Amino acid sequence: MNLVLFGPPGAGKGTQSKILTENRGMPQLSTGDMLRVAIEAGTPLGLSVKATIANGELVSDETVIGIIAEGYDQPACKDGAVFDGFPRTILQAEALDRMLVERGKKIDLVLELKVDEAVLLSRVEARIKAGGVLRSDDTPETLAHRLEVYYKKTAPLLDFYRGQGKLKSVDGMAPVETVTAQVAAVLDGVLA
Ligand code: ADP
Repeated sequence: MNLVLFGPPGAGKGTQSKILTENRGMPQLSTGDMLRVAIEAGTPLGLSVKATIANGELVSDETVIGIIAEGYDQPACKDGAVFDGFPRTILQAEALDRMLVERGKKIDLVLELKVDEAVLLSRVEARIKAGGVLRSDDTPETLAHRLEVYYKKTAPLLDFYRGQGKLKSVDGMAPVETVTAQVAAVLDGVLA
């Protein structure tokens, strides 16, 4: 199954996609994680995107489309993948559809984690206070900008996928286990 997890920054896409990998062995393709690995490793790709990410801007469509295709062509994804943080623009969504069609595949489901903005800000503030994995883009100012970018460039994808009849939503404000259970119920319904 090819699943797109959809939602604003801090909605819990990363958390749920990791759970899907653990519970169902579905490989996760997270453009954010892949870009952060490249930054850590200091590769040319990493160097080229470092400032963009720290500023909360989107990396170029061409760049993320390239790394997604490379990831998807790994044997681990032969039965599909969970796309996390991709696509983020209409152009990326169209490129993803084309990539899958070329491989005789398709997106089976786009699952939106619905959350409200105030909660997102407080989640990231909590993440900062907890002093966990500090990300260069996890500051309240950058988050506010990332949210702006989300509503402007990414949220229009909801209509794109609604139009394709692929969109389903779950309540992302519920506790993690409840969201996990809701996600499982939707997936089982689609697979049935
Ligand atoms: P979050 O979902 O919390 O915003 P991600 O880890 O998905 O975080 O992304 C972090 C940053 O990486 C984004 O703000 C953006 O700069 C870059 N990025 C990740 N995925 C994409 C994408 N599909 N298109 C463009 N930029 C991306």
